[in-house]
Amino acid sequence: MVFAHDVEMSLQAAVVLANSALEPDTMTSVEELAEFFVEHGYTGRHDRDRAELDAVRSLRPELRALLTTDRDGAVEIVNRMLAEESALPQLVRHDQFDWHFHAVDTAEPWARRIRVESAMAMVDVIRADEMSRLSVCADDDCDGVVLDLSRNRSRRFCSTACGNRNAVAAYRARQAQS
Ligand SMILES: [Zn+2]
Ligand SMILES: [Zn+2]
Repeated sequence: MVFAHDVEMSLQAAVVLANSALEPDTMTSVEELAEFFVEHGYTGRHDRDRAELDAVRSLRPELRALLTTDRDGAVEIVNRMLAEESALPQLVRHDQFDWHFHAVDTAEPWARRIRVESAMAMVDVIRADEMSRLSVCADDDCDGVVLDLSRNRSRRFCSTACGNRNAVAAYRARQAQS
């Protein structure tokens, strides 16, 4: 594990959310939103309505900027996010989760909590000087954000689809040469 468990969960969710804005958009319905909630182990308030969907969708440009900028740029965005949301970090323990940070109350709108949790997670990335864990997909035609939490830092593609497409292209290129 590179970062604390809750930090890695928040980073993964932020990357998936940012990447959902790439064409074809995969966060367009309340159902897709509910799936994202379950898949990423969210707890607390979840309205399951259009307003929540719009609020979560509207986070994506800022998350993308945060995840793809340099370290100093990320600091600026994180500080703005935490200040605007009046984040107050508190250690909490609930459900199956051991001590971790909540910086806004679980009764607050989900989008607000995603915004704060993403910023809090990036605090750890920035402090550990681990921005190199984040990059943009090595596929020439893809702008997906890549989060590499592997020990040997080997991850270059945002998805299995991008990885496979490039493996096939590399194989064909080798065949053509021989
Ligand atoms: Zn929690
Ligand atoms: Zn990709």
